Amino acid sequence: MPMLIFSSGEGAVLIFREYVVVSKPISVIKGFHAHVYYSENNKNVAKKIREEIGQKFAVRLGQWHDEIVGPHLSAMYLVVFGNSEFNKLVPWLMLNRDGLSILVHPETGNDLDDHTKHALWLGEKLDLNLEKL
Ligand SMILES: [Zn+2]
Repeated sequence: MPMLIFSSGEGAVLIFREYVVVSKPISVIKGFHAHVYYSENNKNVAKKIREEIGQKFAVRLGQWHDEIVGPHLSAMYLVVFGNSEFNKLVPWLMLNRDGLSILVHPETGNDLDDHTKHALWLGEKLDLNLEKL
């Protein structure tokens, strides 16, 4: 077990309790999801954004979910994309989400963490049903 030892000018040795921060390497990210939320009132906006995403980016578009599904408490569709697409698609979504809420999350294999502490929200952050994760 690692230990931090510091020598002072008088030769005394101070031994601190172990303090190790374990960082997660980004190599645990196997890809990303963008969940694009909409309602009856702005489904036309969601449709326009979806069409442009399909034309401009290397993604897999999921089906429309007008009914709530999984942890999502609003209608939404899913956009699946690889790590190399992140820096193209996410800035585009920032500029073009047109008032929609979008949840961008990595896929690390831990669904709960990916939808909570690993999540990136564009626009208003919505509640999720975490019991479904
Ligand atoms: Zn997802």
